[in-house]
Amino acid sequence: MSDRIDIAIIGSGPAGVSAALNASIRKKTFKIFGSKEISQKLVKAHKVNNYLGFYGKSGLEIRDEFAKHLELMDIDITEDKINNIYSMGDYFALMGTNNNYEAKTVILATGVNFGKPLKGEEEFLGRGVGYCATCDAPLYKDKVVTIISYNKHEESEANFIAQVASKVYYIPMYKEEVEVDSSIEVIKDTPVEIVGEKFVEKLVLKDREIETDGIFILRDSISPGQLVPGLQLDGNHIDVDRKMSTNLKGCFAAGDIVGTPYQYIKAAGEGNIAALSAVSYLDELR
Ligand code: FAD
Repeated sequence: MSDRIDIAIIGSGPAGVSAALNASIRKKTFKIFGSKEISQKLVKAHKVNNYLGFYGKSGLEIRDEFAKHLELMDIDITEDKINNIYSMGDYFALMGTNNNYEAKTVILATGVNFGKPLKGEEEFLGRGVGYCATCDAPLYKDKVVTIISYNKHEESEANFIAQVASKVYYIPMYKEEVEVDSSIEVIKDTPVEIVGEKFVEKLVLKDREIETDGIFILRDSISPGQLVPGLQLDGNHIDVDRKMSTNLKGCFAAGDIVGTPYQYIKAAGEGNIAALSAVSYLDELR
């Protein structure tokens, strides 16, 4: 297939950005998925003193330097969230919120924002619980949908599903002001448990319960086991060797997602190794 790329990099933090620079230098076709903001974890750091060459700079200033670096190398971040990745043998199929993609290799650099699953979340996954409202919207025509959102930019997902669902509840887990369609009911409460028989029936919150047919949990990142079925994990992290190879052929990982210490320079270094390993793997295929 002509638009099958060499390397798909999932995540635009220091690990993903570093992988992208090296993929570009090695002249491979690639896409880096994430946000043009680069990484919330970088933006939020007050002062960073342990990243080589940036003494005393704030996370925001370093983010701007990363963005400038990408611009100078003509690398554009694709703003699409990847929800599932399937190993198809000699390539990977990636399902994004906006588009689907194919890549010969994958570098997972998603960071570790997935948190602890909600009680009932894993049990009802695929039976009313999902992670991509726009992808599953047709299933919820004239039904009641609840969105638990950890990021303001997910408000567009709620607005989208409100066009097909009979009712949408929106539960913001962030502090910024909520600006969603007026038809959406915003609930400021803490989700506790998802309950039902065969399918989701109810969401129990700290102060009330709501009846709902579907619940979308929109976090910044998805746990690696859910993102890539068959991936070998080491606790909450992806199991890798020194080449940043996972147990799946052609799949590499880097940054916080492969383990502690959670540090920018470690993430960037591992992104470099993962990209060079992907390049070697691709060159051996030829
Ligand atoms: P992240 O920076 O978490 O980036 C991952 C990116 O991938 C995010 O943009 C995310 O939105 C995107 N993404 C995730 N899943 C998907 C998907 N499915 N599809 C598309 N995109 C996706 N470290 C230091 O070394 N020094 C410090 O001073 C320091 N200060 C810190 C201060 C704060 C407040 C915090 C929170 C962290 C700090 N850290 C510091 C730790 C540092 O932020 C992390 O180690 C580093 O950001 C990890 O980089 P990463 O590339 O692995 O992941």
